[in-house]
Amino acid sequence: MTDATELRRRTKELLAAHPPADTDRLDFLRARFDAGLAWVHFPEGLGGLGAPRSLQAVVDAELEAAGAPDNDPRRIGIGLGMAAPTILQYGTQEQKRRFLKPLWTGEEVWCQLFSEPGAGSDLAALGTRAVREGEEWVVNGQKVWTSSAHLARWAILIARTDPDAPKHRGITYFVCDMTDPGVEVRPLRQITGEAEFNEVFLTDVRIPDAHRLGEVGDGWRVAQTTLNNERVAIGGMRLPREGGMIGPVAKTWRERPELRTHDLHQRLLKLWVEAEVARLTGERLRQQLVAGQPGPEGAGMKLAFARLNQEISGLEVELRGEEGLLYDDWTMRRPELVDFTGRDAGYRYLRSKGNSIEGGTSEVLLNIVAERVLGLPAEPRTDKDVAWKDLAR
Ligand SMILES: Cc1cc2nc3c(=O)[nH]c(=O)nc-3n(C[C@H](O)[C@H](O)[C@H](O)COP(=O)(O)OP(=O)(O)OC[C@H]3O[C@@H](n4cnc5c(N)ncnc54)[C@H](O)[C@@H]3O)c2cc1C
Repeated sequence: MTDATELRRRTKELLAAHPPADTDRLDFLRARFDAGLAWVHFPEGLGGLGAPRSLQAVVDAELEAAGAPDNDPRRIGIGLGMAAPTILQYGTQEQKRRFLKPLWTGEEVWCQLFSEPGAGSDLAALGTRAVREGEEWVVNGQKVWTSSAHLARWAILIARTDPDAPKHRGITYFVCDMTDPGVEVRPLRQITGEAEFNEVFLTDVRIPDAHRLGEVGDGWRVAQTTLNNERVAIGGMRLPREGGMIGPVAKTWRERPELRTHDLHQRLLKLWVEAEVARLTGERLRQQLVAGQPGPEGAGMKLAFARLNQEISGLEVELRGEEGLLYDDWTMRRPELVDFTGRDAGYRYLRSKGNSIEGGTSEVLLNIVAERVLGLPAEPRTDKDVAWKDLAR
């Protein structure tokens, strides 16, 4: 069993063999992966040591103290938070060996080709078709709201392989090569003025059967692993106290006494406490993760994250008055990451609107919490046993 002492020893060994000050960033990250110190709970040979997930913090602290580079996790969030756990659970040994290392080092960015113009909350209604031709699948369809598609080398993709089966059963999960000539990525401009995400057109895209994740027709089950991990990745990030949206507003409150009013004081206190409760609940969720896969509880965390971000950023705009309406940059940029704290109040206010939509809308997450956490009666589903091709669209 690899314990904390053993991990410290291995980390020191890595640092001695590859001193961060004299080692190329990518070389260091590759060496860290090979040493099993990338994600310690992954198996040996795949960036880990089969150690308890909770011990990752031991490695991270040692490396940070030594000034070692990290893999810029916010830039590669979809790969780390969603593709990797899915590949680990459903991938073949060959897929794990091919994809996980460059995913972790950030050499290959991943995106998620799930949502379609007619299938967002009702994702299982998706119509992108994958038809088998020998050892390949030919894919045609349109995806939308695809974050980072313009940066991505690979995508996790779900497509319909059996239109005769009910909607949840005829779906298969693939890894799609974003450099295939049939993949066309077009920017979509958001309320912030930026284009973080895209629409993606797939025309006769050829995917080798070797890039299928899980069984044919079992894609919905595979996708649940991705979606449960997505909610944890969005709502359950580890943060120090005042590390999220509440940080900038608390700072302004302390530094700008002329802006304070009694009403805003009461609201700030309430939101500060709620943000701290959410942060500590996130810690509990991570402890639960140590014990196994994330369950539907991640939905609750993501719900709280969205509501708090919107309320806190609204309070910040009010607190700053006219200044709060300023906006730093309206040009259509293609940002590599969503940076809440590095931008101004106007950006935070506008960008947080998407928090209650991305990774499942708040209404849909409330349904999940009601049904799968609280055990309340399920919503009526009349289309459960109807062939997808016969559904009204
Ligand atoms: C910033 C951002 C990034 C995104 N990135 C990605 C990405 O990288 N990849 C990807 O695949 N997708 C991505 N998405 C898409 C996202 O997952 C969908 O927008 C989301 O699932 C909602 O789907 P929809 O937009 O089709 O809305 P709809 O499903 O049409 O919903 C419209 C409204 O109806 C409500 N509604 C729908 N069904 C129910 C129900 N059963 N009960 C109660 N209310 C309901 C919804 O809550 C919502 O208010 C992103 C979205 C955003 C905002």
